[in-house]
Amino acid sequence: MPVMKFGGSSLRDAESIQRVCSIIESRRNDRTLVVVSALGDTTDRLAEAAEASERRGFELLEQLRARTHALIRQVIPLRAVPASLKVLNARFEEARADLRAVVANETGRPRAAALDRLLGCGERISSQVVAGALSGRGLRPVHLDARQLVVTEARHGGANAVFDATRKRFQELAVPHLDEGRLLLTEGFIAATERGAGTTLGRGGSDYTATLAGASIDADEVQIWTDVDGVMTADPSLVDSARSLPELSLREASELAYFGGRVLHPSTMLPAIQRGVPIRVLNSRRPAGEGTLIVPDRPAAENVVKSVVYKENITLIDIHSTRMLMAHGFLAKIFEVFSRHETAVDMVSTSEVSVSITVDRVDKLSLILAELAEFAEVETASGKAIVCVVGEGIRFTLGIAAKVFDALDGIRIRMISLGASRVNVGFVVDGDDLETAVRRIHAAFFERP
Ligand code: ASP
Ligand code: MG
Repeated sequence: MPVMKFGGSSLRDAESIQRVCSIIESRRNDRTLVVVSALGDTTDRLAEAAEASERRGFELLEQLRARTHALIRQVIPLRAVPASLKVLNARFEEARADLRAVVANETGRPRAAALDRLLGCGERISSQVVAGALSGRGLRPVHLDARQLVVTEARHGGANAVFDATRKRFQELAVPHLDEGRLLLTEGFIAATERGAGTTLGRGGSDYTATLAGASIDADEVQIWTDVDGVMTADPSLVDSARSLPELSLREASELAYFGGRVLHPSTMLPAIQRGVPIRVLNSRRPAGEGTLIVPDRPAAENVVKSVVYKENITLIDIHSTRMLMAHGFLAKIFEVFSRHETAVDMVSTSEVSVSITVDRVDKLSLILAELAEFAEVETASGKAIVCVVGEGIRFTLGIAAKVFDALDGIRIRMISLGASRVNVGFVVDGDDLETAVRRIHAAFFERP
């Protein structure tokens, strides 16, 4: 009983959609649940529309609609096209109303709620298109609205799922169809509160939907289909010799997701950790490949370091205070400010009189800085990058840090952290040094001299 999740990169045009249908057709068994995210870069375009002027926003929606119309004509059998276009037009009408609400509310909860609805429209269009394409092949999936399946806390702009409630919904609404051997299709990313208000799981959240679904229906495997050969030793667009990893532990995958963000959404591993469902990352362009299997235990591997990942557009905040000397509660005071402004801190390092912190969200930064300035001197530097070396073996092996620093000779390191989980060594460099840093570290750990 697999859950198969297909991301935007696997659903970018008629050809890739057909390929996805073939994968489902050949790999499904009598208990299969398919999760789809928005087609191609739809969510980015919707987000762009939300930020643009009203006129430009509507223009962007119109372009998306035209593009999706063309796609429907290519992937859906002729007789089903009119009905499908009708549904699609209704979706875009809703999107226009949501965009209007986004524009009308500059800030606050009404805007956040409308933005969630607007962004989620991409998944609702995608499920419609994929359902049509599958029906054209005689597969006739049962479509279940993810907003009825995935229950989240009442929060907009990326909510956490409430697992027990979600499992109950899957058991009630999805399992009976699976018991009848029907193919099930639902959307990633979108969800709703217990009372039915539309939410999302945050950008990239479809992976999280897939593992929530897997844990809820007791799937034997959650397959995340992307456009790369599983999890790689480094970003192949930066490092030519990057290769895919056959196995990875959940702890390593969590660490990679958090820092790399390119393959799996960070929350994805939670349901898998709690319920022990294996995750496999596969390439929809090369479906015959084995991909990467993410397993609960530490796999035996020759290489202690599994991957080198990075996160760009990081802001470094240095906080100094002489009052910190001998003071207790100072760190608590600092973190309280970040917490109140709902800004997650990535990396922290402290000395006697200073604390360095990195963040990737800067929307609340000016508020945070103003509050910190009340009791400390604060300096910020944007355009930094975190590079992180990940592998369970790091905690058992001496000399990893030395090897990293050796590789970085001549590059200015702004901050270092030997991860508390001891599966990573992370450091901050200037954005301009990022590529060199990643290449050199990859060479040091993965390429034989
Ligand atoms: N479509 C959403 C996004 O692009 C969710 C996802 O792809 O997982 O963020
Ligand atoms: Mg995605």
